Amino acid sequence: MPDPVLHPDFKDTPYWWEALDAPPPPADPPERTEVAIVGGGYTGLSAALTLARAGRKALVLEAEHPGWGASSRNAGLITKLLHTGLARMEKHVGTEALGRYIAEAAAAFAYTIELIEREQIACHLTRPGRFVAAPNPRKLKELANELELAERYADATGEVHDKKSQRRELGSNHYAGGIVIEGTAAAHPALYAQGLARRAENAGATLAGGCRVAAIRREGNGFRVETGRGPVLADEVIVATNAYTGPELPQFRHRVVPIAASMIATEPLDRGTIERLLPTGRTCVDNARTFRYWRKAPGEDRLLFGGLSGQRWRDGKARARSLHAEMTAVFPDMAGARATHAWSGQVALSLDHLPHLGVHDGIHYALAMCGTGLPMGTWLGHRIAQCLLGEAEAGTVFDTLPFRENRLVAGNAWFAPAAAGFYRFLDLMEP
Ligand SMILES: Cc1cc2nc3c(=O)[nH]c(=O)nc-3n(C[C@H](O)[C@H](O)[C@H](O)COP(=O)(O)OP(=O)(O)OC[C@H]3O[C@@H](n4cnc5c(N)ncnc54)[C@H](O)[C@@H]3O)c2cc1C
Repeated sequence: MPDPVLHPDFKDTPYWWEALDAPPPPADPPERTEVAIVGGGYTGLSAALTLARAGRKALVLEAEHPGWGASSRNAGLITKLLHTGLARMEKHVGTEALGRYIAEAAAAFAYTIELIEREQIACHLTRPGRFVAAPNPRKLKELANELELAERYADATGEVHDKKSQRRELGSNHYAGGIVIEGTAAAHPALYAQGLARRAENAGATLAGGCRVAAIRREGNGFRVETGRGPVLADEVIVATNAYTGPELPQFRHRVVPIAASMIATEPLDRGTIERLLPTGRTCVDNARTFRYWRKAPGEDRLLFGGLSGQRWRDGKARARSLHAEMTAVFPDMAGARATHAWSGQVALSLDHLPHLGVHDGIHYALAMCGTGLPMGTWLGHRIAQCLLGEAEAGTVFDTLPFRENRLVAGNAWFAPAAAGFYRFLDLMEP
C-alpha cells in the first residue's frame, strides 16, 4: 500500500540543497593570513566579504563546506524584529533596552536586504510580510503588544486579526487570531549562502572547506590556528560557529545552547490549494511555546513547514512523520500531501535570548543568533569586520552584554527533547 505521508522519492536532506551547484573544490588554507574566520555560514561569510572588500586577507575555515550549517537549512524568513516573545523580554530588560535591541534588528534587516540587492545575489528575495498566529487569546494579546513595540521601535506597520478575520491570511481554524507585520522578507536560504560565498571569494577571500579547526592558540602577536589541513598563523581570529560550536572551542561552547529545528517540504500542490492555505502569500510563524513556521516554496507550489522541536529523531522518516502530523494539525486538508524532504539543523540560543558579539582572550566572536541569523548573522559578521578594520560605526547594542556561561545547559542541550515534550503538553492544555 502506498505510504500516505512519505513520497516514494523521499529524501532526508534539505529541500533547499536541490537548487545548489555542487560545492567547488575547497581551497587550500595558506600558512599565513591576516584574519582567520572559523565557520562558513552567513556570519563568517559576511565578515569575509566586508574584510576582503577592504583589501584584507580573509580566510574562512569551514569544517564541511561553506553554507553547510544552519545557513542552508533554515526557513529563509527575514525578520525586522528579534524572535517572537518580545513582550516577555520587555519584562526582563525593560522597554528602553528592548527598544534598542529591536532597532538593531531593524538595522540588520535593512543591511541584509541592501546587501542582497547591491551584490545581486539571486536568491528569490521577496517582501511578502509575515503573519504571526496565536494559539490562544492570551498569546494573541501578547502579539498585539509586540506589534505596538514593532511600530514604535522598528518603524513596522501591521494589523491585528481575530479568529474570524485571520481567515483572510490563513486557511486554517487552528489559531485564535494573529498579527500581520508588513514588509518583512523571505529568500531561498541556501542560494543566499551560496551567493554570499561566491561574492566573498570573488572579492579575494579564501574559502577553505573540509577544514575543521581543532584549536586556537596565542603565538607571538597573533594566533596559531590548528586545522585538519595544517596550521595557519593569523593576526586576528573571528569565531562564527553559532550552534555548531564544538568542544574544540571550550571558551564559547558553554555559552551557546544548541536546539534542533526541523522542516519538511511537501510534494507540489495544485495552485488552488496553496492559495487557500496562504491567501496573501505571507510567510507565517506562530508564537506557541513549540514555535512552528511555514511558507510557500519560492517558485513552486509546495508548502514548507517546520518547528523548533528540540527532538532528536531516529531517522529522517520519523522526523518527516512527526512534522507531517504537526502540519495536518494546523491544516487538516494537507493529510494527503506527502513529504518529499525532511531535514534538521541547529539553532543557537543564549541564556538571555540575545545575540552576542565581542572579544574573548583576543578572539573575536559573533554567536547565538537566536533563530534570526539570516539577517542578524549577515549584520553582525559585517559589524565585526568593521571593528577589525577600525571603522567608527562598528559598534552594536549587543557588544557590551555579558555573554553568560552555564555548564549545565549550554553546549549540549540534553534537556531539549524533554523540554519540547513539556512545552507541547502546555500548548495543548492552554485553552
Ligand atoms: C530549521 C531551521 C530554520 C530556521 N529558520 C530561520 C529563518 O527563517 N530565519 C532566520 O533568520 N534564521 C533561521 N534559522 C536560524 C539561522 O539558520 C541561523 O541563525 C544562521 O544560519 C546562523 O548562521 P551562522 O553563520 O552564524 O552559523 P551556521 O550557518 O550554523 O554556520 C556555522 C558553521 O560553523 C562550522 N563549524 C563549526 N565548528 C567548526 C570548526 N571547529 N571548524 C570549522 N568550522 C566549524 C559548521 O560546519 C557550520 O557550517 C533557522 C535555523 C534552522 C536550523
